[in-house]
Amino acid sequence: MTDSVAILGSTGSVGASTLEVIRLNPDRYQVNALAASSNTQLMLEQCIEFRPARVVMVDQAAAIRLRTMLTAHGLEIDVQSGAGSLESLITPASNTVVCAIVGAAGLSSTLAAVRAGARVLIANKEPLVMLGQYIMDLARRHEAEILPLDSEHNAIFQCLPGGWQQTLGARGGKERYGIRRLILTGSGGPFRTFDLEQLEHVTPEQACAHPNWKMGRKISVDSATMMNKGLELIEACGLFGLNEQDIDIVIHPQSVVHSMVEYVDGSILAQISNPDMKVPIANALGWPQRVDSGAESLNLFTAGRFDFEPPDYDKFSALKLARDAAKSGGTAPALLNAANEVAVQAFLNGEITFTRITQLVAETMDKIPITSDINLATALEADRAARQFCAALASLDCKLVL
Ligand code: MG
Repeated sequence: MTDSVAILGSTGSVGASTLEVIRLNPDRYQVNALAASSNTQLMLEQCIEFRPARVVMVDQAAAIRLRTMLTAHGLEIDVQSGAGSLESLITPASNTVVCAIVGAAGLSSTLAAVRAGARVLIANKEPLVMLGQYIMDLARRHEAEILPLDSEHNAIFQCLPGGWQQTLGARGGKERYGIRRLILTGSGGPFRTFDLEQLEHVTPEQACAHPNWKMGRKISVDSATMMNKGLELIEACGLFGLNEQDIDIVIHPQSVVHSMVEYVDGSILAQISNPDMKVPIANALGWPQRVDSGAESLNLFTAGRFDFEPPDYDKFSALKLARDAAKSGGTAPALLNAANEVAVQAFLNGEITFTRITQLVAETMDKIPITSDINLATALEADRAARQFCAALASLDCKLVL
């Protein structure tokens, strides 16, 4: 049987890697719909190769350009744009939806895919950070299958027993399946060995040069502050129905052990591979079967050694902020995520220093009250309030710098 796939965020790094896996398995997967923000040239190339029935370019001018380009190539593909266009791609024509749109912008299309009862491969962290438990409950009601693409969460998924994989998000799995803890690994980012003084002078270019993974700019900065690991902790709580104290964070600079699960008998299962997003993508596309990912086989002799060290919660205070937000629950993770998005953008724009990113997030968390009732409306309101507050803080900083 051929799976029909919609890829939201097809021109980003996860989207492009998904298409590479599909290219290797043409008998199993067929591309039905693609969506991107504004990269018309790459979208044109993807349309020529994969012939989707429908395309969304979120940017209106890009949609107009793409229509002209497609006509010039003799391709008849429906191109939509504007509000609601992403959700309009979620139809029964696609049984698999890859959600790879960066930031809170991917939220409503992810919810639409879950409501449609699709197999939903989630790469964007924000929906699971802002609304983890809510989304997992929604998935059970609509019989949607959630499969994590984030390499750590996919690694944990692979190390869980089959019964738990089939009831992802349900509480009580820890006791039922004899699990002691999850071990979330992180490379420690490019500044793992920096001291606080050195962190003060970090530039956006340094922050975006990750030693092991090739990623977009926002997630590269998150990796450098270690907010990425903090967001992943929150994401894991929602996905696997656990509390933050059930999950340890371990620094593993080689990024080869992608995460682990420890059972009560003392066994630790790990998922190990080259750091290549095609591995978790192929796992999620194929599950419960295995398909060729095209990723290079791991050479254990070259990999040589695996190091593990505890994270420095003082130097990387984002980790502590994220643990606190996970513990508080309610709208706290949504506040954290929104403030972080604004602060990272301000850093990338040269408006604030690197160490101010987490300080602005902490100040926002201090000031905006947390609502314990979590649903789409309360999450969006928290998102809006945190963005507004954090942007005001960042602009104050900016004036001081000038
Ligand atoms: Mg990750």
